[in-house]
Amino acid sequence: MRNTAITKDVQGGLTPNSVLQDLLDGNNRYTNDNLTASNVSELVKQTTGGQFPKAVILSCIDSRVPVEMVFDQTIGDVFVARVAGNFENVDILGSMEYSCAVAGSKLVMVLGHESCGAVKAACDGVELGNITAMLDNIIPAAKLSSEQVEGEANSSNAEFVAKTVENNVRLTMDRIREKSKILQEMEDNGEIQIVGGVYSLTTGKVTMI
Ligand SMILES: [Zn+2]
Repeated sequence: MRNTAITKDVQGGLTPNSVLQDLLDGNNRYTNDNLTASNVSELVKQTTGGQFPKAVILSCIDSRVPVEMVFDQTIGDVFVARVAGNFENVDILGSMEYSCAVAGSKLVMVLGHESCGAVKAACDGVELGNITAMLDNIIPAAKLSSEQVEGEANSSNAEFVAKTVENNVRLTMDRIREKSKILQEMEDNGEIQIVGGVYSLTTGKVTMI
């Protein structure tokens, strides 16, 4: 049972590596049906005055990827930014800069997932309302995959989709470093790490890439 929220002192003692290990250990508990119970009212009380989260995770909106559960985290543990297709934009970059440079988080994780509907739609060049402009963010990953994977370059090709999910995480990490001087410098100084992972809908396991 979790009874204590992360304090400033606890956060200060964390390293990017220890946070990554903590999240992967949590994912192990998730896949083993061994999630930690939370004393919610106690954690709510302890976090009312402030928060000292260990990481910021950029995830898809997919309902099958419950981010806090996936890593067995609770109230006050992690910032979560979500957008269909888990790509960065100026608002998400600002949110990540806040998480790390202001609120002290040690890890930025870009989390893609198997069979992502947004990635599939980008692979198929779907055009619909605001979805069209949103998918523009994922198209570069699909273009890259078409140079790397044999066969049809659309969502009927499972290998093409899987490669695009992975490329989308990698390209998002690259663009975070390019577009955020703050995060890039923090990473260069060893204050944070920017990492990428893919969540398996089949097993619940997160594999780092
Ligand atoms: Zn998705």
